[in-house]
Amino acid sequence: MTTALKTRTGLALRGVTLTYPDGEHRLTALDGVTLEVAPGEFTAVAGPSGSGKSSLLAVAATLLRPDSGEVLIDGQDAGALGDAARAALRRDRLGIVFQQSNLLASLTALEQLLVLESVRGGRPRGARERAAALLASVGLDGSKQHRRPHQLSGGERQRVNIARALFGNPSVLLVDEPTSALDHERGAQIVDLLAEVTRTHGTATVMVTHDRDLLDRVDRVLRMHDGRLA
Ligand code: ADP
Ligand code: MG
Repeated sequence: MTTALKTRTGLALRGVTLTYPDGEHRLTALDGVTLEVAPGEFTAVAGPSGSGKSSLLAVAATLLRPDSGEVLIDGQDAGALGDAARAALRRDRLGIVFQQSNLLASLTALEQLLVLESVRGGRPRGARERAAALLASVGLDGSKQHRRPHQLSGGERQRVNIARALFGNPSVLLVDEPTSALDHERGAQIVDLLAEVTRTHGTATVMVTHDRDLLDRVDRVLRMHDGRLA
């Protein structure tokens, strides 16, 4: 992982349109979406199922190329980059928590983070200590760090997901429906945790949700409807 200082300006989407093939036509999932999220700002995107929230995150994560419009990560235009450079941008600057938890069943919480370093080409000195400290900072102490996903609660698994997303020291943190599998109290705790990590890590954080009860805990709420942001 690079230790060079990152210039952080956060996330910007400009006039982003995304369509999917739909029979003989195209379905417009994102319709001219413009959005800026500054470092240290926690923005929620709320909207009903099917309104385009996950599509928005996939485009912001540079996993899907929009039909038109720009995606800027720390000022870098993702659309101008080739696949390898885009993957590097993702690795170095983005933290992503998907709706489907993709924790590996055979790995402990600690190993979920450390495996990323192996993928990045070697484990730098201190990685294990840093991973342990990060897990502790999201509320997973001691023996829980050595448990596998099935030995953790849903809320604890979500904490591992968040710690893993933060492990690469991202500028932009993208989180899809983090509370959908949790009861209200656990969900509120996870949103509070995201608010806290946004402050302490200075990430430009976007959380998408259809859960309206948790929106008083974020800096800003944007509403999505039929692929448009209000
Ligand atoms: P949300 O996350 O708000 O539920 P999505 O971004 O998942 O919304 O979906 C927006 C629209 O795009 C929906 O109409 C959905 O059916 C459609 N859609 C999502 N993914 C695909 C895909 N891979 N192929 C075709 N249509 C898709
Ligand atoms: Mg979704």
